[in-house]
Amino acid sequence: MLRLPTRLANATLCAVVGTPIAHSRSPLIHRLFAEQFGIALQYERIEVSPGGLSDALKALQRLGCRGVNVTVPLKGEAAACAVKRAAGVELTGAANTLWWTEAQQLAADNTDGAGLIVDLTRHWGLNLEGKSLLVLGAGGAAAGVIPSLLAAKPAMLRILNRDSSRAEALVERFKTLGPLAVLAQGAFFAEPVDILIHTTSAGVTQRVPKFPARAVAATTHCYDLYYTHGTTPFLEHVRRLGARACRDGFGMLIEQAAASFQRWHGLLPDTTPVLASLRRAQAAARTG
Ligand code: NDP
Repeated sequence: MLRLPTRLANATLCAVVGTPIAHSRSPLIHRLFAEQFGIALQYERIEVSPGGLSDALKALQRLGCRGVNVTVPLKGEAAACAVKRAAGVELTGAANTLWWTEAQQLAADNTDGAGLIVDLTRHWGLNLEGKSLLVLGAGGAAAGVIPSLLAAKPAMLRILNRDSSRAEALVERFKTLGPLAVLAQGAFFAEPVDILIHTTSAGVTQRVPKFPARAVAATTHCYDLYYTHGTTPFLEHVRRLGARACRDGFGMLIEQAAASFQRWHGLLPDTTPVLASLRRAQAAARTG
């Protein structure tokens, strides 16, 4: 059953919806952004099951909600509910940011790809142009970031997924955007890649997806979209394989949130202190 928040007076209401939702750090991140501008923000986590998004959005609109973040497993449903879709939503079929226009039409954007690119390039200092990329996974997160990765002009982007047919479907969908190919499970692959990007949900169950160990060398940067209090199983694994440098998905989480915040409030927050604050909390949780 949908549990709606009690609306606070004199605060702007925003929310994140999905299932499960209790773990979401979006309320904390948006509160830290709002503090930068003196915005009184009420940002709620709301559990919404598949099939229930349209009704939940109507109820939130009646409450005067400004914007909604959408997480697993509702990003496809969010794209379908919207009347106005940004190019990234049309391309990926998924939305993580919703809001209502002045005419009260539901608008959608997907800020995941932009969030990853900002974290890889601005914060980590990578240049993707001319590089070889291997993306592990072909689910919603991979679909959301591959168009942005191709826009950064890599020499080649390969996709490896447990179920190869899903990787093939992504190649079919995005092949006009840049050099894209499937790496079949079990295929011989001895070439180290420049950048290895892990997008599977295997980390949630402390697993690491199978991929050729030779893809990782002392020149390889490894990025895990997954994040947790400590290091992730994937990053531990690639460190053992001798990766040059590793980074988890906290930065992407904060950058995609900043892009959502800008859509809703017309203000772009400074993400650096927010990432530092979350990293401190992460370190404290590790040692605590
Ligand atoms: P989906 O459910 O859409 O896709 C899951 C993917 O993981 C599929 O490719 C699936 O393979 C693969 N997979 C799951 N378990 C295993 C396993 N044991 N071994 C190999 N492959 C496996 O999930 P999403 O794509 O939406 O999310 C994936 C991850 O990305 C999550 O951990 C999520 O937290 C993270 N994410 C992080 C963001 C950030 O801001 N940092 C933003 C968005 C997502 P198959 O197709 O074969 O089943």
